[in-house]
Amino acid sequence: MLEASEEVYSSLRRQFKGDLLRPGEYGYEDARTIWNGMCVRTPGLIARCADVSDVQSAIRSARALRIPTAVRCGGHSLAGFSTCDHGLVIDLSRMRQVTVDPEARRARVAGGCLLGSIDTATQKAGLVFPSGVVSHTGASGLILGGGTGWLTRRFGLSCDNVERFTLVTADSSIVHADSKENQDLYWALRGGGGNFGVVTEFEVRLHPLTAVVLAEGLTPQTDIRGLLECWRDVMAEAPHDLKWNIDLRLAPDTERVPVDLRGRPVASSSLIWTGDPETRGPYLQCALSKCSPDSVSIRNVSFLNLQTMADSAFPHGRRYYTKSGYFTRLSDSTIDCLVEAVATIPSSETQIELAYLGGAAARIAANETAFGDRSAPFIMNLLANWSDASADGANISWIRGLFDKLRPAMKPGVYINFMSGDEQERVPEAYHERWDRMVAVKTQYDPDNFFRLNQNVLPRKVTAGNS
Ligand SMILES: Cc1cc2nc3c(=O)[nH]c(=O)nc-3n(C[C@H](O)[C@H](O)[C@H](O)COP(=O)(O)OP(=O)(O)OC[C@H]3O[C@@H](n4cnc5c(N)ncnc54)[C@H](O)[C@@H]3O)c2cc1C
Repeated sequence: MLEASEEVYSSLRRQFKGDLLRPGEYGYEDARTIWNGMCVRTPGLIARCADVSDVQSAIRSARALRIPTAVRCGGHSLAGFSTCDHGLVIDLSRMRQVTVDPEARRARVAGGCLLGSIDTATQKAGLVFPSGVVSHTGASGLILGGGTGWLTRRFGLSCDNVERFTLVTADSSIVHADSKENQDLYWALRGGGGNFGVVTEFEVRLHPLTAVVLAEGLTPQTDIRGLLECWRDVMAEAPHDLKWNIDLRLAPDTERVPVDLRGRPVASSSLIWTGDPETRGPYLQCALSKCSPDSVSIRNVSFLNLQTMADSAFPHGRRYYTKSGYFTRLSDSTIDCLVEAVATIPSSETQIELAYLGGAAARIAANETAFGDRSAPFIMNLLANWSDASADGANISWIRGLFDKLRPAMKPGVYINFMSGDEQERVPEAYHERWDRMVAVKTQYDPDNFFRLNQNVLPRKVTAGNS
């Protein structure tokens, strides 16, 4: 396989405008690193593309030489799909242009952008693109999988705000997809991940917003049950201006945390109010009444501040493992199970993340995009986060054990961006009634399954045995 990557190198080096990095060369070690420290691989060649024609050349060569190929934007795939051993990595990190049209409230976003690149550019015009909550996450992987964040209830998923995609498909041609052109592909790209080609540009809708109200508070273990019951009931009636996320975890041992809660199991609530600050009262008050009073804070924050607040909590290079699912309703027994689980968390950074979708995201019909189920509003992500390889077993088995306990109460389905690399058998579950259409689009645009390092949809003529 190393020979194959050498051949790709030889075929690219004359016309390639970006950087070609091979093992041992300057810059290679940094370039091969992705966010999840569990996924350390040694690609034979990293092709850091300067433009669309570089992407075309890389695909053409890799396909001709049948070399495994990973595509990377921000490298935040929890499953580690944006790298590979011995094969080629098409790295888009030099393609981070964002062009904003303030009048039209539209932006063109290049395929290598991080969320932070988009936020910085759009905020100059007082506009936002709804995306995720950590600014060093790659925009392409996030948008193609769906994209949830603080503004999902107000403005919809990230993919709901894409009007047009430009991509390079497996035959290395440039293809556009929007509501008029290649409609099936447009449908599939909104939730279908990296299955169909390398997206080099997204044309997205923007919305006016520069600041929000942020309320935070911690609830001690004994009161978590009451908090979750309150959350379940309040969110069912809440306006789309309210986003209330809850993390069940061990409280950090820092000055900002009341002494009696430090290092103890807590529920950490973060509430965002995007509407008129005067009308926020009843919702925030109700939530914060369930928190320890000396842990509560309410403040106005700029959108850029909000978007970078969690950056340091998820550093590159730590070890991460995840499993996730949806609930249509949060039953008392599910709440009991969560409350019991928080007392057994194996690492100080590991957490059970709970979010409530609904709002604008739920107003899009299930068959309008490939994105998974929008009717089950409770989304849960079990995210283990630790640093020492000797703790791999304890963390992974805790996540798997808890997931198995909770699974019977879940609605079938999974958000592909919150999946680990050992969950390929759940990919059909992610698309359930949309699966046949996904396979048809995959078969049309990538019949040989060239783009397979993703939550993979097998095209019709390829069988699992020879993929
Ligand atoms: C710290 C952190 C915070 C997160 N927060 C959120 C959040 O708030 N909301 C949310 O919805 N998700 C969130 N996620 C999950 C995130 O959406 C996925 O990890 C996503 O895949 C990251 O995208 P990326 O471009 O960084 O990934 P990469 O690892 O670069 O790629 C991920 C997948 O997308 C494919 N891909 C990448 N770029 C392209 C492209 N241009 N064209 C075609 N395919 C491409 C890759 O081949 C791979 O299969 C978070 C993840 C992390 C690690």
